[in-house]
Formats: sequence, C-alpha cells, structure tokens
Amino acid sequence: MDLTTSYVFDAAHRIAGHPGKCAWLHGHTYHLDVTVSSPTLNPLGMVMDFDDLRDAVRKAVLDLWDHATLLAADDPLGPAISAVQRDAPDRVILLPGHPTAEVLTREAWTRIESRLPAGITLERVAISETPSCGSAISRPKT
Ligand SMILES: [Zn+2]
Repeated sequence: MDLTTSYVFDAAHRIAGHPGKCAWLHGHTYHLDVTVSSPTLNPLGMVMDFDDLRDAVRKAVLDLWDHATLLAADDPLGPAISAVQRDAPDRVILLPGHPTAEVLTREAWTRIESRLPAGITLERVAISETPSCGSAISRPKT
C-alpha cells in the first residue's frame, strides 16, 4: 500500500548557460510529492506515521532547500552569494549538476531514501517548478 505526502518550499536557482531566461537568478515555489510503500501495515493500520514521513522529508530536503539558493557546483554565483550572505553559509546549496527539476528530483530521491525506516520503500518523488512543469522519478515495477 502506498502513502503520499506533499510539501511546498521556496528557493532561488538559475541554469547557468541556458540560452533563455532560465539563466537569470530567479525563484520558484516548488511542490514536492513523496510516495512510500510497505507490503504490510503496522499495528496502528499505517504504512508509517505521516509525522515520521514528514520529519524524514523535512530533514532530508526542506531544511536544506527551503529559502536557499540552488546552484550548480561550478556556478560562479555560489561563492558570490555566500560572500554576501556570510551569516547564512548553508543557504547556498551546490548541486552536482544544474539545479533543474530533474536534478532536484534525483537529489531529493537519494536524500529521502536514505532517511526512511527499514521496511519502507520509496516509490515516487515528484518536484514541480510551476503548476505545469515538473519532474518525477518512480521506482520501476518489478
Ligand atoms: Zn527556474
């Protein structure tokens, strides 16, 4: 049985080298959906407690990315913004690739999966930049 939770976070990003407006620093209100599963329910009739899943997602993604600037590791804006925001060095997140919805989804998948309790399987992570543009990763059906 699946269990899905949804989240919203705000972040700035840019796609350095993009030929259009995505190259400029701008922000999105991202929507994140996380689905987990378990073949059995716990004694309380749950896949897992919503609060425990929300806590895992918060620690894995939201605490890091909400109100942060998400940049590629080699983007020169990273050191520049960190210099200006010296009092919040953790608010510039450097990623192993351009901070596209696809890369954010892949990073979120890795971070969330590592925080799930034993017996809980990550099934799907979806991140939308806008109501009509997003990315998702789903566990392949076996
Ligand atoms: Zn954007």
